[in-house]
Amino acid sequence: MAPTKKAADDYTPVDINIPDNYVEHTLKTTKPLPPFEWKNWRNEFQWLSFTILTGTPIVGLIGAYYTRLRWETLAFSVFYYFVTGLGITAGYHRLWAHRSYNASLPLQYFLAMAGAGAVEGSIKWWSRGHRAHHRYTDTELDPYDANKGFFYSHVGWMLVKPRRRPGVADISDLSKNPVVRWQHKHYISLILLCSFVIPTVIPWLLWNDARGGYVYAGVLRLCFVHHSTFCVNSLAHWLGETPFDDKHTPRDHFATALVTIGEGYHNFHHQFPMDYRNAIKWYQYDPTKWFIWACKKVGLASHLKTFPENEVRKGQLTMQLKKLKETQERLAWPNDSNDLPVISWESFQEQAQKRPLILISGFIHDVSSFIDEHPGGPHLLVKMIGKDATTAFFGGVYDHSNAAHNLLAMKRVGVLHGGMPHGLDDKVVPPSQRLKIARYTELSSPYNSSAMSDGEGLLG
Ligand SMILES: [Zn+2]
Ligand SMILES: [Zn+2]
Repeated sequence: MAPTKKAADDYTPVDINIPDNYVEHTLKTTKPLPPFEWKNWRNEFQWLSFTILTGTPIVGLIGAYYTRLRWETLAFSVFYYFVTGLGITAGYHRLWAHRSYNASLPLQYFLAMAGAGAVEGSIKWWSRGHRAHHRYTDTELDPYDANKGFFYSHVGWMLVKPRRRPGVADISDLSKNPVVRWQHKHYISLILLCSFVIPTVIPWLLWNDARGGYVYAGVLRLCFVHHSTFCVNSLAHWLGETPFDDKHTPRDHFATALVTIGEGYHNFHHQFPMDYRNAIKWYQYDPTKWFIWACKKVGLASHLKTFPENEVRKGQLTMQLKKLKETQERLAWPNDSNDLPVISWESFQEQAQKRPLILISGFIHDVSSFIDEHPGGPHLLVKMIGKDATTAFFGGVYDHSNAAHNLLAMKRVGVLHGGMPHGLDDKVVPPSQRLKIARYTELSSPYNSSAMSDGEGLLG
């Protein structure tokens, strides 16, 4: 059967014709709604989600006050929390929003129903927002922009009308998916069935606790799933470390992982969104990853995507170097030869009459503050004043330690004219500077190399 016109339109990527400067262009040409005002509150709230998000905890707490909690119902509620939570994390998020693995039809139907039980909108709606969140992270076009505060990114963005539409994000792949379309079409029936009917009926049939099932496994469990998954947008952009990149707000933290069924390694996730894992170490808490992996083992999932390990480690190394560079910049370093005066041999001799100057590997050092502290005794320094002590320093008399060489370099006051050896060697560069971290702008460009200029080569 030929697809209808509407369906055919759905298959055309919506971002295929956007301008190259889409973000800037959109921010410039579209006006946001004026800032939220309490006096307009009736028009400002998104009443459907407002009612669901405030009604659930109220009904749940009142229900819990009047309903005894049986341990069977408690155990089932926790279990059902994980089922519906996985519907979001393994289904909505990692399968549909990010396509990080392939799922067989039975698994897709299971995840679509489990996800409906979490009442967070249909797969289509949710994935569209989430793809915009990744594409426009921390900008006005990110529907849950973390820069607007913890409360806003957690739940505020669903309570009040958004000031702007989320940036464009294509979901034409999802529009073609029969399970996604089925869920979208029957969404209301599915949320009633999966969020309230199933968790009421199972405890009723198995241990005759329909009311407990409704209150604990239905309503209160829903409240927990909501705030658990909302933490991915709030807590995961606020608490923890940035081991892969610190350009944006996403962070890694065990506590976030614990409350989000493993979505807490969010710094990794924003860097490598197509990876089916959030946690890359086996001991880190990521039950969603374990679930997907187990599904693969029993043949329900395949093509689990992982980012090349080499590239993951580059990200980590970059951040480690950045931290080390900060440490490096907090320390004092010797004067560079370009910043020191060049002194002739005669002038060196003359000035050494007035203060204790010693020449070592082309640098003139003023050792006046060190003579009495020299571990080998002051006499060994005094006898070298006005002389070249390079050989004596580097093993002739004593093969000095790295620390001694580092300290010596701090006493540089000049460079002997013609006294610098060609190039750099271990005698000129103190040990602490041999692995110095330099920004690329401080290095000579590889593109200036003459090896690149001899004609038209083939790219390797
Ligand atoms: Zn995020
Ligand atoms: Zn994501």
